[in-house]
Amino acid sequence: MPRKIVPKPCACGCGGITKGGKFIPGHDTRVYRAILQHIDGDVLDLKRIIEQTTDRTVVVEQD
Ligand SMILES: [Zn+2]
Repeated sequence: MPRKIVPKPCACGCGGITKGGKFIPGHDTRVYRAILQHIDGDVLDLKRIIEQTTDRTVVVEQD
Protein backbone atom coordinates (compact mmCIF):
# COMPACT_ATOMS: atom_id res chain seq x y z
CA MET A 1 0.00 0.00 0.00
CA PRO A 2 1.50 3.35 -0.95
CA ARG A 3 2.22 5.68 1.90
CA LYS A 4 -0.19 8.56 2.08
CA ILE A 5 1.57 11.82 1.37
CA VAL A 6 0.82 14.46 3.95
CA PRO A 7 2.24 17.86 3.00
CA LYS A 8 3.80 19.67 5.94
CA PRO A 9 5.36 23.05 6.50
CA CYS A 10 9.11 22.80 5.95
CA ALA A 11 10.90 22.46 9.28
CA CYS A 12 13.54 25.04 8.34
CA GLY A 13 11.02 27.81 8.74
CA CYS A 14 11.05 28.99 5.11
CA GLY A 15 7.29 28.82 4.90
CA GLY A 16 7.36 26.25 2.09
CA ILE A 17 5.33 23.07 2.04
CA THR A 18 6.99 19.65 1.77
CA LYS A 19 5.71 16.61 -0.06
CA GLY A 20 5.44 14.67 3.17
CA GLY A 21 8.96 14.92 4.54
CA LYS A 22 10.21 17.17 7.29
CA PHE A 23 12.08 19.37 4.86
CA ILE A 24 11.89 20.54 1.29
CA PRO A 25 14.83 18.77 -0.41
CA GLY A 26 18.08 20.53 0.53
CA HIS A 27 16.54 22.56 3.34
CA ASP A 28 17.89 20.24 6.03
CA THR A 29 21.28 21.51 4.87
CA ARG A 30 20.12 25.06 5.61
CA VAL A 31 19.42 24.06 9.20
CA TYR A 32 22.79 22.34 9.44
CA ARG A 33 24.51 25.46 8.09
CA ALA A 34 22.60 27.67 10.54
CA ILE A 35 23.69 25.45 13.43
CA LEU A 36 27.31 25.63 12.33
CA GLN A 37 27.04 29.41 12.02
CA HIS A 38 25.46 29.60 15.45
CA ILE A 39 28.50 27.90 16.98
CA ASP A 40 30.95 29.86 14.79
CA GLY A 41 31.51 26.91 12.49
CA ASP A 42 33.22 24.79 15.10
CA VAL A 43 32.19 21.23 14.27
CA LEU A 44 34.02 19.93 17.34
CA ASP A 45 31.74 22.09 19.49
CA LEU A 46 28.78 20.52 17.76
CA LYS A 47 30.23 17.05 18.33
CA ARG A 48 30.70 17.80 22.03
CA ILE A 49 27.17 19.16 22.37
CA ILE A 50 25.72 16.09 20.66
CA GLU A 51 27.78 13.78 22.86
CA GLN A 52 26.59 15.58 25.98
CA THR A 53 22.99 15.51 24.83
CA THR A 54 22.91 11.87 23.75
CA ASP A 55 25.34 10.66 26.43
CA ARG A 56 27.16 8.70 23.71
CA THR A 57 30.43 9.25 21.91
CA VAL A 58 30.22 10.30 18.29
CA VAL A 59 32.34 7.77 16.41
CA VAL A 60 34.24 9.27 13.48
CA GLU A 61 34.88 6.62 10.86
CA GLN A 62 38.39 6.53 9.52
CA ASP A 63 39.19 5.50 5.95
ZN1 LIG B 1 12.58 25.13 4.08
